[in-house]
Amino acid sequence: MLSIKNLHAKIEDKEILRGIDLKVKPGEVHAIMGPNGSGKSTLASVLAGNEMFEVSEGEVQFNGKDILEMAPEDRAREGLFLSFQYPVEIPGVSMVNFLRTSINELRKYREEKPLSASEFLKLMREKKNLVEIDSDLTNRSVNEGFSGGEKKKNEIFQMAMLEPKLSILDETDSGLDIDALRVVANGVNKLKRPDNATVLITHYQRLLEYIVPDYVHVLYHGRIVKTGGKELAHELEANGYDWIKKEFGDK
Ligand code: ADP
Ligand code: MG
Ligand code: MG
Repeated sequence: MLSIKNLHAKIEDKEILRGIDLKVKPGEVHAIMGPNGSGKSTLASVLAGNEMFEVSEGEVQFNGKDILEMAPEDRAREGLFLSFQYPVEIPGVSMVNFLRTSINELRKYREEKPLSASEFLKLMREKKNLVEIDSDLTNRSVNEGFSGGEKKKNEIFQMAMLEPKLSILDETDSGLDIDALRVVANGVNKLKRPDNATVLITHYQRLLEYIVPDYVHVLYHGRIVKTGGKELAHELEANGYDWIKKEFGDK
């Protein structure tokens, strides 16, 4: 589904990603962990198509297509969903309208009929129940005045509605409150299907108590330096990141 080969990216001549290799298959949940500043959010931004970063080497294929050449909105239409640590606010546009527009754009791209108002509302009810989001949130303007936790819940709801093939979720380093954490974990677990995949970017192991990843990768200084199963996350929790720095050099 996703194949990243030798990806290098820089900003203002500073190389941040220094040769990332990663393969994600349908049905898998991957966690990317690593110390602050190792390039986790940069990887998410580059995959989203943020033009601030220049890709200097490597390739990224999604469903067999080279996405580095695609505009961010086309990546989304292909079924790539990216959360951001600080998602944008859209004052005056309610979540309901925002999602209805987004879903119908996706359907148009796939040459499917737009959802009628009643079909849309039915879908919305289903997904709201599934990911346990209350109407308070969906009736408000997109992310306007949302707390960090509310933005995260909102993202999970968007993910539920848009049914992406691959979701890349970048968690805030400051961490979520327990309620938001539960919604995120619950959402990822409930939305898991044999034909979709999730990449969870997280500094802390805490989220991985609720979501069991198939693979855990450690990103350090712009490279994936270690890959393992869920036990690797426990090892990081117990021992911190110092041993990674010792083994792979302090930058
Ligand atoms: P992480 O998410 O793992 O904490 P980031 O991807 O946010 O790491 O950052 C990786 C490195 O890239 C850091 O050294 C950071 O200072 C640098 N960096 C990120 N964004 C920018 C930017 N807009 N301008 C300059 N440097 C940046
Ligand atoms: Mg950071
Ligand atoms: Mg980050």
